[in-house]
Amino acid sequence: MDAPYHFDAEGDKADAVPLAKLIAPAIVIDVSQKAAVDPLYRLAPEDILAFEEQHGTIPPGAIVLLRTDWSTRWPNAESYLGGTDPAALAFPSFGDDAASLLIRERGAAALGVDTASTDYGPSADFPVHRMMGEANAPGFENLANLDQLPATGAYLVALPMKIKGGSGGPLRAVALVPKK
Ligand SMILES: [Zn+2]
Repeated sequence: MDAPYHFDAEGDKADAVPLAKLIAPAIVIDVSQKAAVDPLYRLAPEDILAFEEQHGTIPPGAIVLLRTDWSTRWPNAESYLGGTDPAALAFPSFGDDAASLLIRERGAAALGVDTASTDYGPSADFPVHRMMGEANAPGFENLANLDQLPATGAYLVALPMKIKGGSGGPLRAVALVPKK
């Protein structure tokens, strides 16, 4: 988990993130097919609108998870991060317009992704991290098994280690999925 404080001095620190932003209904947007052909794919506002056409408007307070299936590349770090050069990373994630739509317009409580960062690999200025810091929203990175979640209807429990004053911390995230 990145606490909002990670990118904003006024943001909540790891031990102060409210439970409502860590335990909430989960929305899963699947861009795995697009990411498979474009490893630098960034979630676009059109993807969110297409999702909502199918599943309804994303409700306020939801935790929105982005599925790219990058977690299947783990533990091959080179494949997961897009190379061995830390200055030339390549993996998909949220685009800043889409992240802003989710947080500022839909009122999402938090964003999560199954890649190493809520900003895509080549990002140098981390607009998604900065926007989330300003909006006081936590981010969850390096998630796994998002393919096992329905688009809507799951409940996420994402409780981080409660590190006093921390900018983030290890997180064990689990989802409760309704039985079919
Ligand atoms: Zn981060």
